[in-house]
Parts: sequence; C-alpha cells; structure tokens
Amino acid sequence: MDALREVKERLSIFKNLYDSIRLVNPINDSIINHECENLSVKSGFCYDIWKRNERCENCISRVAYDKEETAVKIEYSEGKIILVIASPLIIKNNKYVIEMIKDVSQNGRISNMDTNYEESVLGFLNVIKERTVKDELTDVYNKAYINERLPKDLRISVNENLSTSVVMIDLDYFKNINDTYGHVIGDKVLRDFAAIVKNYTRSDSMDWIGRYGGEEFILVLNNADEDIAQNIAERIRKRINDNIFKYDDVEIRITCSLGIYSSNGKDINMDDAVEKADKNLYKAKASGRNKIVN
Ligand code: GH3
Ligand code: MG
Ligand code: MG
Repeated sequence: MDALREVKERLSIFKNLYDSIRLVNPINDSIINHECENLSVKSGFCYDIWKRNERCENCISRVAYDKEETAVKIEYSEGKIILVIASPLIIKNNKYVIEMIKDVSQNGRISNMDTNYEESVLGFLNVIKERTVKDELTDVYNKAYINERLPKDLRISVNENLSTSVVMIDLDYFKNINDTYGHVIGDKVLRDFAAIVKNYTRSDSMDWIGRYGGEEFILVLNNADEDIAQNIAERIRKRINDNIFKYDDVEIRITCSLGIYSSNGKDINMDDAVEKADKNLYKAKASGRNKIVN
C-alpha cells in the first residue's frame, strides 16, 4: 500500500518525532503496513511489539479510531521508554490509525530518579496507565476502559460457556442532591457511592466497576449467573439504602436502582447487553426506584 509512504512524506518535517511508523487496524489488531527501523516485531498483531501476549489494556489506537482524535501513551519495554502517538486516518473510505513510535529513553526526564531506575520508571508508567483507564472523580474505570474490556469479557464468557452479568446502577433523584446541597457535595456523594459499590467486587480479573455516565455506573460480574448477580445487587441496594453520607454537618441518604442482564453463555455484543440491562434499570425506576430488575 502506498498510503503509508504518502503519510510518511506528509509527515517528513516531523521526522524527529518518531523512529517507526505503522498503519494499524485496531478493530482486529492487525498491522496494515510499517516502516520500522528499531522495532523487533513487524508482523502478527499490533500489540506483539510489547511482548505481553495480550491486547493492550491502554490501547490508544482504539481510542484514536473511536473518537477520531489523536491519542498518546508511554510504554516501557525491554528497558526502553517508548512514546506512542496514534492518529486516525481515512484512506479510500476506510478508517485506519497511524502510529508513530519513538524511543525516548535518552530524551525523557523523570524526576525522583534516586531510587532504582526500573522501579521508578515502572511506577511512573503505572500511574499514567491508571490515569488513562480510571475516572478522575470516582476512581472507578472510565468509559474508554468499559468499551475496551466489556466486549472482551462477553467474548470469553461465550468461549467458556459461562455467564457474565452486566448490572447498570443509577442513583435515584440525584438531581435533588445537587439542587439541595450543591455540586461539590454531589461530587462527594458520587465518589463515596462508587467506593461502596467497589467493596462488592471480587478480584479485578472477575468483577469490575466503571462510570458509564454522570450518575450511572456499570458493574460487570464475570462467571456470575442471574442468582449471583441478583444477590450482589441486593446487597448493594440495601447497603446504599442504609448508608448515611456525612459531610461536616450535612447528612444525606440516597437510594439507587439496578438493572441486570446475564448473558448465560449467549453470544451478545456489548451494546445489546448494556441495552438489556438498561431496560431493566428503567423498569426498576418505573416501579418506584430503590429496586432491582433482572
Ligand atoms: P432518576 O431517579 O430518574 O435517575 O433521577 P435523577 O435526578 O437521578 O436523574 P436525572 O437524569 O434527572 O439527573 C441526573 C443528575 O446527575 C443531573 C446531573 O446534574 C447530575 N450529575 C451528573 N454527573 C454529575 C457529576 O459529575 N457531579 C455531580 N455533582 N452531579 C452530576
Ligand atoms: Mg439518576
Ligand atoms: Mg442517570
């Protein structure tokens, strides 16, 4: 394909920005074309360059593809700090992502380097990685992470004939909290609510929670059928119902509604699974709130 060459020519004035450049399709993790001086892996899946044998949790090409904007990440691989810039690109009506990859080990500056170099670098990268997948206010996973992880979990549950349960949780009459106590307190309630729900998750490889929208959260329970999901949902509903959120002299009580969808090994995509859970959430709201529907 000449496309990469054309892109390279167009980018030639930025040549110092990258060592390697490649065109990828993040939908199937394929490499369409590459011009790599330093990369040891030039074929296979795009993520093979990091030698982790799995798709990147912090995939920025998917972000660039979905949001149609440039995304940046830093990786640490084989003792090197690597900067990756991903930008969407339309070629003959097909969407791709161009990735510019640069070894910045010599150019980057990281403070507090007095301790073990590798530990500092890995710690620094973990912080960055955490920030790219976590919601800033509530410290649960963000939308980009949900979009990345949920399809994967649903696919695994089909392959292993297990049930993944999707629980949509929405705070009841949350607008009243903002109207009565202001947004700052509203934010604190959201943060503390998320922390409580997080207590009901098992290890991160099994269960996880993300912020789906303003005051709506998604709880994903892997290897959990309706009964298990219903049980966990009921414990969360009751815990929130009984909780008093205290901020100085303010005491707030709030409830939440929950809608569950369990895949039971069925092959279902993320949008349909979320829609089904959302419909049940709507029913829980319509039937009076502080309820669970599955
Ligand atoms: P319902 O029981 O039907 O869910 O009622 P509700 O008031 O919770 O729902 P509605 O959709 O009417 O309002 C949601 C409110 O959530 C409005 C919005 O200001 C608030 N909200 C969304 N995101 C945030 C946030 O990040 N911080 C704060 N403080 N409020 C938020
Ligand atoms: Mg609400
Ligand atoms: Mg809502």
